[in-house]
Amino acid sequence: MNDALRLEGIEKGYHLGKPNEIRVLNGADLALAPGEMAALVAPSGAGKSTLLHIAGLLDTADAGRVLIGGEEMSGKGDRARTRARRQRIGFVYQFHHLLPEFTAAENIVLPQLADGTDPKIARARAEDLLGRVGLSHRLDHRPAEMSGGEQQRTAFCRALANAPSLLLADEPTGNLDPGSSDTVFDTLVALVRETGMAALIATHNLELAGRMDRVLRMQEGRLVAT
Ligand code: ADP
Repeated sequence: MNDALRLEGIEKGYHLGKPNEIRVLNGADLALAPGEMAALVAPSGAGKSTLLHIAGLLDTADAGRVLIGGEEMSGKGDRARTRARRQRIGFVYQFHHLLPEFTAAENIVLPQLADGTDPKIARARAEDLLGRVGLSHRLDHRPAEMSGGEQQRTAFCRALANAPSLLLADEPTGNLDPGSSDTVFDTLVALVRETGMAALIATHNLELAGRMDRVLRMQEGRLVAT
């Protein structure tokens, strides 16, 4: 079976003029099997966000290949990359990035409508997902009326709206207090396990990272097993 995500020789630098050239990724390789959960642990500034953005087709590498479900995405145009992002990749940020003027359910309905799903089916799926993370009582609440943990659980549901095969998460509980961070992280892991998605999750929390199938570190712009 094809890997859910494959990175081959990814290189990325930020070109700020000759003396200030920053080389962040320097031949990063990764093969993530379907259903596999891996943690990405590295100090701030090591390049975790850069790597996740390239894997999530939000940014492009200077060199190397990105394959999603076996399909080479590196040379594809914007339309193909946008479609792959919408259908096959879920992305969770440290801050929820929900649309403030829409309710929790609507935030999960919208990406489905963008993908051509029937509105009734989209609403039913939003209700099902929010139910699974214990938010059936928050369907019609706007983000400002929810706690940080509830907002982030809603953002997980939004990432899963179009049933992707790959979830990428950048410090998904980094913004929460330690007490709620653990339970919200548990919710994310349960959701990923239930759906059989593959996931790559950047976290500073070694205890949370230890619950993944595999822990990867970044060393000199490459990914290494721990
Ligand atoms: P992490 O997620 O591990 O904290 P990042 O991927 O955000 O690390 O950043 C890696 C390095 O790249 C840092 O030194 C950061 O300053 C630099 N960097 C990130 N984005 C940019 C950018 N748009 N322009 C210049 N440098 C950047």
